[in-house]
Amino acid sequence: MPVVSTLAIQKATVTSGTFRNEVRARSGTDARESTTMLQLEGVSKRYGDLEALHELSLSVRDGEIFGFVGANGAGKTTTMRVVLGVLEADAGSVLWNGAEITFALRRRIGYIPEDRGLYPKMTVLAQLDYFGQLHGMRRREARASALALLERLGLADRGASQLQALSHGNQQRVQLAAALVFAPDLLVLDEPFAGLDPVAVDAMSEVLRAQADEGRPVVVSSHQLDIVERLCDRVGIINHGQMVATGTVTELTDRGPLRFWVDVPGAAAGWYDGIPGVTLVEQDGTRWLLELADAASEQSILTKALTIGPVHEFRRDRPALSQLFRDVMSETAIK
Ligand code: ATP
Repeated sequence: MPVVSTLAIQKATVTSGTFRNEVRARSGTDARESTTMLQLEGVSKRYGDLEALHELSLSVRDGEIFGFVGANGAGKTTTMRVVLGVLEADAGSVLWNGAEITFALRRRIGYIPEDRGLYPKMTVLAQLDYFGQLHGMRRREARASALALLERLGLADRGASQLQALSHGNQQRVQLAAALVFAPDLLVLDEPFAGLDPVAVDAMSEVLRAQADEGRPVVVSSHQLDIVERLCDRVGIINHGQMVATGTVTELTDRGPLRFWVDVPGAAAGWYDGIPGVTLVEQDGTRWLLELADAASEQSILTKALTIGPVHEFRRDRPALSQLFRDVMSETAIK
């Protein structure tokens, strides 16, 4: 059995995504609290002898982009398929807005499957019409929505092209359009950024952000942790079918050692001596990376630095999400 220390980092500091939600909740006419929309509780799934998911729980709020990360085979696609109803869980439940998810609600989910799901020989517009109608739209409605999406995704001139004639990146954009054409209540995207160039990543990210800002949650899996770090309001790390860490990127990276970069020209070696619990990690020119035993010393360092000269930088040093991911993976590895 894997040895797993589950980190439920739920409150801590207010950061980008939750901050955005709270600002929206407090502001003007659209005053409402952010609500948990999608919830998985204790979901388990076996493929024969292999336990792909073990009592996995997660929650995704409205207005939120939730990044789902994990090593190959960790269980991301299986989780998404359970949400979609493509696979039935052996145990646990999937809730939408507090109630057991139904077929009708699942029809309101826009999905980009890992193995993609478009028809190579069909034209772009024909498939968007098809997906719109599959999700209950009238043909004219679907066509209007498809045209608007193609315009927004920079593909207005490709509607009559066969899908197979488009580049990989443009096929991905069509895949996103197919997931969005019926204005879904939830987007579930399995590796949507795979193989995209940075411009295409930005275009897709913008659309996802707009979707979330309209209050529709987005669940996105990716191995591209730099994108996840930039884009996602909260992140869940899955390992061996279990959720081993969830939180905003800031909350997750708060787990690391408490370190600050201080740029104070003119400081002599050991200038921080006498402040309790402070040790030097490294020095780079006039910049000092100090580790603090606890947060109480933070202001003392700044105060001391200001007595020496102007402080050009005073910044918490946080590990990148990729480093945190490696740390969590090694902490939760099968021992
Ligand atoms: P990746 O990042 O590589 O896409 P993943 O996190 O999406 O991986 P899953 O595809 O959910 O992982 O797979 C979880 C585990 O279940 C893996 O060990 C995989 O081999 C196994 N698995 C997935 N689908 C099946 C299946 N249809 N039959 C048997 N085993 C399966």
